[in-house]
Amino acid sequence: MALVFGAACRVLPDGESPAVDSAAARSDTQTIDLAAPPPQRPPTTDTLVALDEGETILRDTTAPPVARNDELAALARTLTIPVAGVKAEELLDTFNEMRGTRRHDALDIPAQRGTPVLSATSGRLQRLFTSERGGLMIYAADSTERFVLLYAHLDRYAEGLSDGAALQRGQVIGYVGTTGNAPPNLPHLHFAIARSTDVSRWWEGTPVDPLPLLQR
Ligand SMILES: [Zn+2]
Repeated sequence: MALVFGAACRVLPDGESPAVDSAAARSDTQTIDLAAPPPQRPPTTDTLVALDEGETILRDTTAPPVARNDELAALARTLTIPVAGVKAEELLDTFNEMRGTRRHDALDIPAQRGTPVLSATSGRLQRLFTSERGGLMIYAADSTERFVLLYAHLDRYAEGLSDGAALQRGQVIGYVGTTGNAPPNLPHLHFAIARSTDVSRWWEGTPVDPLPLLQR
């Protein structure tokens, strides 16, 4: 199957929270909010067109944290693929794709609508969040609190979740969907990881490619 990812439109958070918006303005001088609509590329039977950029974990450019190799190796040992039934060899390399003017900085994992989304590692739920682009999202921290993990386009959340809740690796946290700007005919999980210096600031960090960590 040929994989073609179309251009995305807007990359800034939607501003449900003024704090997030102002953080965005401060933290990423390279962020460009494109008002132009994305080029239309109608999907065909053999083309996967993903128009989302989900929701980006913003770069903290004042003091960008960089994940050390030993930190990444330690995280990788704790990770499970966050969509039930998906094997490592089935994952698509979508981290470096350009979506609009910006790198995607996340992994798109296509799956049938309603497939359970699993917590990729143990840790803590930082924020249940909704935005125009990411739809229903979960921001979580790993147990070392070095990393923020983002799950987007959820169809719905698992019952009983709340901000601050402890998460176990493999726990069902939601279900694959197309909320936000995911194409309605291409349900997928938008999954991002970022090195953080303060996971209470769950919206920012330095993006890390999840793919090699999940394929170890
Ligand atoms: Zn995505």
